[in-house]
Amino acid sequence: MVWFKNLILNPLLKSSSLSSSSSSSLHKVKPTFSTSTYSILTCLSRYTTDVSSASSLSPQVVQGSGLGPTKAGEKPRVVVLGSGWAGCRLMKDLDTSIYDVVCVSPRNHMVFTPLLASTCVGTLEFRSVAEPIGRIQPAISREPGSYFFLGNCTGIDADKHLVNCETVTDGLDTLHPWNFKISYDKLVIALGAEASTFGIHGVKENAIFLREVHHAQEIRRKLLLNLMLSDMPGITEDEKCRLLHCVVVGGGPTGVEFSGELSDFIIRDVHQTYAHIKDYIHVTLIEVWGILVQLKPRIRVPNNISNYFKLTAVVKSSQANEILSSFDDRLRRYATKQLQKSGVHLVRGVVKDVQSQKLILNDGTEVPYGLLVWSTGVGPSPLVKSLDLQKSPGGR
Ligand SMILES: Cc1cc2nc3c(=O)[nH]c(=O)nc-3n(C[C@H](O)[C@H](O)[C@H](O)COP(=O)(O)OP(=O)(O)OC[C@H]3O[C@@H](n4cnc5c(N)ncnc54)[C@H](O)[C@@H]3O)c2cc1C
Repeated sequence: MVWFKNLILNPLLKSSSLSSSSSSSLHKVKPTFSTSTYSILTCLSRYTTDVSSASSLSPQVVQGSGLGPTKAGEKPRVVVLGSGWAGCRLMKDLDTSIYDVVCVSPRNHMVFTPLLASTCVGTLEFRSVAEPIGRIQPAISREPGSYFFLGNCTGIDADKHLVNCETVTDGLDTLHPWNFKISYDKLVIALGAEASTFGIHGVKENAIFLREVHHAQEIRRKLLLNLMLSDMPGITEDEKCRLLHCVVVGGGPTGVEFSGELSDFIIRDVHQTYAHIKDYIHVTLIEVWGILVQLKPRIRVPNNISNYFKLTAVVKSSQANEILSSFDDRLRRYATKQLQKSGVHLVRGVVKDVQSQKLILNDGTEVPYGLLVWSTGVGPSPLVKSLDLQKSPGGR
């Protein structure tokens, strides 16, 4: 079985009971329960959610498959779109003696996001922040009318009480994605939000977001690879400096928290474990629309890499408070002080372009990087934008 980067092993299931062929085949094999099988798989293979590839329908799939309307005498069906905080909290307390529950999401687990940053540097293991849906709501694994479907919702027909979905597959390695429909009696839309890039060129291609477990895995992988590469014979000084320059864009809670984790990692671990290169590693935190916060551990910056920082202007402490802009002033000052204690320098800058090894600020400053984490806030997804339903002021 192929394990996707967005999948973890459901501890309640020894074998998957979901068939993809037709609605009539959606009958469950009673699973064998085994909580001892709980383990997170490091899902490193890639999968595609590329809609364009869905056009050629796989011959193994019956068109028009899905779950039809519930019949008289059946439990009403609650369809939950999304397996994040909102969807999982609701599913956890759903009375499954009254309702059948069907969850549709491209990931089969919930992510405990406040601890995600710690997994990037190994303070926590990935399994500590991911909870399988089957553990949150066991009915989806064992009740005959309840399911988890790995897929994306692509549209909602509120008049017909129908959601359109598309499977998430591993492309040619498994099956092409295909569409299916689910009728609902009650619908919960808990689709969350998408990372904002403000249309800045090169962000999606070159930066790593920090929203999913596989993002944290990618950050950790890249960080360790760069640490290893920079200690290899033959590496130039310039390249070593670039590889070990970690740039975080976004001075919100996630960017600040991740920078703090990185800084702790450098001060505590890199100085001990990678002593040869400890003087080369730096973290720079860029606040996209306001200030650029340069954060570096208390180390001496070799002269040959000081160019990276020459063009940046140190900001006054009042401007430094612009990080965590949605927070109370006292908290902002505290966070700024903590960052400064770790060797933080604050400078202004706005990112205008991101290339594979450097980003460019709008004043022309080039900032080479080895690791780039993008965390500039979130906005509604195209699907949520397209829904003709009442929304909150932020469009969600
Ligand atoms: C690193 C990090 C740290 C954070 N720390 C904190 C914190 O300390 N305190 C705090 O209050 N908040 C924190 N947050 C914010 C918090 O995680 C979010 O507010 C919360 O996740 C929002 O919950 P949600 O259920 O609306 O969306 P999400 O948790 O994002 O869930 C959305 C779900 O919808 C799924 N989905 C997306 N598109 C589709 C589709 N088309 N079809 C089906 N499913 C889809 C997703 O896969 C996901 O499962 C943090 C966020 C991050 C990224």
